Amino acid sequence: MSTTFESFGLAEPILRAVTELGYREPTPIQAQAIPIVLQGRDVMGAAQTGTGKTAGFALPILQRLMQHANTSASPARHPVRALILAPTRELADQIYANVRDYAKHTGLRAAVVCGGVDIAPQIAALRRGCEVLIATPGRLLDHVGQKTVNLGQAEMLVLDEADRMLDMGFLPDIQRIIRLLPEQRQNLMFSATFSGDIRKLAETFLNDPVSIEVARRNAAAENVEQLVYRVAGADAKRAAVAQLVRQRQISQVIVFTNTKIGAGRLARQLEKEGLNADAIHGDKSQQERLATLDKFKRGETTILVATDVAARGLDIAELPAVINYDLPYSPEDYIHRIGRTGRAGASGLALSLMTGDDERLLADIEKLLKRKLPAESLAVDLPVAEAGVRERRERRGRDEADAGAAPARRRRRETEGHLPKATGYSNDPFFYKPYEPEVSAVTADTADSSVDSASSRSSITGARRTARPVPALLGGIKKSS
Ligand code: AMP
Repeated sequence: MSTTFESFGLAEPILRAVTELGYREPTPIQAQAIPIVLQGRDVMGAAQTGTGKTAGFALPILQRLMQHANTSASPARHPVRALILAPTRELADQIYANVRDYAKHTGLRAAVVCGGVDIAPQIAALRRGCEVLIATPGRLLDHVGQKTVNLGQAEMLVLDEADRMLDMGFLPDIQRIIRLLPEQRQNLMFSATFSGDIRKLAETFLNDPVSIEVARRNAAAENVEQLVYRVAGADAKRAAVAQLVRQRQISQVIVFTNTKIGAGRLARQLEKEGLNADAIHGDKSQQERLATLDKFKRGETTILVATDVAARGLDIAELPAVINYDLPYSPEDYIHRIGRTGRAGASGLALSLMTGDDERLLADIEKLLKRKLPAESLAVDLPVAEAGVRERRERRGRDEADAGAAPARRRRRETEGHLPKATGYSNDPFFYKPYEPEVSAVTADTADSSVDSASSRSSITGARRTARPVPALLGGIKKSS
């Protein structure tokens, strides 16, 4: 595994950018994807965000576009040649930030268009011209409708987190967008899972694709201590969060809830109890969310309460702890969540709260982890001056309705505003079998080791800042090797 970025034959301006970012070696997904994308082949990639996937497609895309690089000020000389579709604003923004970094010295231009933010600056950026356009589907179609974008010269299409896009009801939009593109083009699709719908979509638009897969993540990162606390009832959970943060002197933590209403309310309640808390979820504007995120990253907020969708793709990692206020509906999300904590050489803490109603959710997680999680009862002191039981019941009822009953249209509208996914992947049978260690990529004892992409997510995000050696951190390579 001694692939280097130089060995791909990438142009000097691209290599320079990669070096400046502190990337020393390609991650496993990059080592696999870059040569194939450079050949012009279609790709179906099984890889999650956090594996270095973005550079895996963006670097070869830029390389292939280098022939078009020019310094002309004329927008006509900068048509959209590569379109990258992502499910959420945060992911789109993140991809854009990465592409801009990678393209910095190339003369190629990138732009991002996504919902929930002012359309005018996007129109201005599109008018200036961009070779690489990153977009969420709904807003892209708005631009198509307003004729502020022309996709007639797109040579490459990337569907990132395709499973999420389908989950969020974007299939019709994606199909419309595909019809707007020239038939002759290279297609790349990345998805964490491959359900029947994803395969169907792949069949409709991928042309003899090469399948790429990196070692699947496995949640049992050895450096993350996982504990489950049984609490008496739903009301005790909030008190439990405050108690655990204080008792364990947790300096910073993301607390995951299953609903956006629950997230906002929990943050407010924790604040009332004198803790420094904020929430990030789909009801907040993009500006508010970015501000919330910045504050948290600067360490000015102790507790960030988040829903899975709002937190997904965010460049937050290497936290000392995460708390699952609600056990996730999908064991897959549990792995995403705990991947935020723990890093090479440092221990992380993943605490989960559960009530008697959550036994099945815990069983699903343990099935995926292939082991039991230590669980103990937690006695909590409930504050007396609390809302009445009935009122709480009613609120809880509303939360559940919010989680379960989002009609497709609302989901689509709010997707670009990040409505938390209501039921996770619990209906997707794939999730009950997906995390078998890949024999080729993961040796027997790594099934329980830290070489999963979830934990590597936290690691490589940090690697960008600290330039930590990559092979020890990224999926597929054993730390000791
Ligand atoms: P991604 O999966 O594309 O979201 O990437 C996750 C994080 O890993 C980002 O912060 C990237 O900047 C970083 N990263 C990507 N490739 C490498 C690499 N080869 N070496 C170190 N960090 C990387």
